[in-house]
Amino acid sequence: MKLDQAVAEALSYAKSHLGLGKLGHYYYQNLLLHELGLSKPYEGEIDEKHIASLPLPDEIIDHLVEALIEKKGMAVDEAEREATYVLGLLSPDPDAVDKHCHELMSKGEAKKATDYLYSLSIENGYIAKSKVDKNVFFTADYPDGPSLEISINLAKPEKNNKDIAKLLTFKSSGYPKCMLCPENLGYEGNPKHPARENIRYISLTLDGTPWYAQYSPYVYYPEHCIVFAQEHTPMAMNRHIFACLLDFLDIFPFYFIGSNSDLPIVGGSILDHEHFQGGGHMLPLLKAKPRREFDISVPGVRLYEADFYDTCLIVESKDKKKLLDVAEKIDLHWHLYEDEENDIIPITDDTVFHSTVTPLARKIDDTYRLFLILRNNRTNEQYPGGIFHAHPEYHHIKSEGIGLIEAAGLFILPARLIRQAKQAEDIVAKGLSKEEALKLYPDMEGFDPLLEHLRQGKDFHSYLAEVGRKILGNVAVFKGIKGEKALAKFVRRLKL
Ligand SMILES: [Zn+2]
Repeated sequence: MKLDQAVAEALSYAKSHLGLGKLGHYYYQNLLLHELGLSKPYEGEIDEKHIASLPLPDEIIDHLVEALIEKKGMAVDEAEREATYVLGLLSPDPDAVDKHCHELMSKGEAKKATDYLYSLSIENGYIAKSKVDKNVFFTADYPDGPSLEISINLAKPEKNNKDIAKLLTFKSSGYPKCMLCPENLGYEGNPKHPARENIRYISLTLDGTPWYAQYSPYVYYPEHCIVFAQEHTPMAMNRHIFACLLDFLDIFPFYFIGSNSDLPIVGGSILDHEHFQGGGHMLPLLKAKPRREFDISVPGVRLYEADFYDTCLIVESKDKKKLLDVAEKIDLHWHLYEDEENDIIPITDDTVFHSTVTPLARKIDDTYRLFLILRNNRTNEQYPGGIFHAHPEYHHIKSEGIGLIEAAGLFILPARLIRQAKQAEDIVAKGLSKEEALKLYPDMEGFDPLLEHLRQGKDFHSYLAEVGRKILGNVAVFKGIKGEKALAKFVRRLKL
């Protein structure tokens, strides 16, 4: 592939998919010639009809990457970042995207605004759609409890040794401060930080403070969005956060929204920049039925325990202020609540706090529903990874923190499991002893329960389904019948 031809194809793609006009064509063509050191545009024919029919930009990106490696001698990751630059340059201007979304939102057409940003993010290659489509996704049904969802994430690239060597030698400038800072918009990227020329945001005001909404580049479910504060400030859990979630639902009532907790083990991977995750897919917890309702003396507000595997209270009301009053009291009460019999100790060493919540919210007609998953990140000798975290016998499946998506019932599992499932099947088929199995497949340590499961004629998915449910049982701060009573006691002591 010639570089000038690849550029001509990209310009044609931008015309059919990214709204590039006639004058823009001349203008960006010249900018690209300059950027790539070309003296004139491609003079041959390109198949515009074929390009206009492409559902995704993969072919355009592949041709650019191929030409950049061939003609410019770039390494693969460098060429991929350059291709992102090209697609970003040819995408609509960030302010124009934001303005267009706000025009739709002000006309009461917020769904059109999110549809526009989501399609644009797919068509300009920001969302790795073809990779995401390879993910394994299934619903785990149980005869005696609510369903969970399980996904094996094949979209996120696994780093090879060459990439890792580059990472070790690359010195970061400290700009942008993190992956969630608004300064990522248009950033060229480096071996440690993805290129972000093709990202676009919608600006929002939530509880009087500035925020932005974007999509996740590796959407875990349809329309998986990330909403992040303008300021690079650490995550916190308080009334303001709950108020921001409810304000988001006033703008986008067709989405759910949630926040990871503000503590390690029970939170997400980024704790130093306040952010939420939401989207168009109702996670299993958001569809949970009430297990029981608690009597509270606040008119217009209902409080339930969710029929789910971890411990979750649902506060429901049409009145935002009243709902926030109750949610804030629950949050503050939980932060300091002690129940040694159930291993719940909120503070150790006088200053280390362990209890927090993972909140999620949705709106049904004009009723807000706030889900508060009670969390505690304390560790002890028996459970150095966390008492209310996946226990060691499940770490061969999942050892990372249980963030809001998993706590709400959608498990995102690592790609290695596809390979390990095949290895397990091979071990069982060949009837290998444990010693022989580990010699052949050294990373099968801890997989004995899966081997046993397969030997009983059951399949890998049903094993993941069993493990998923058990992990959420580990995460539950109040467990079983004893837990039911303990939760009722916690609610009784709430001063509502
Ligand atoms: Zn940041």
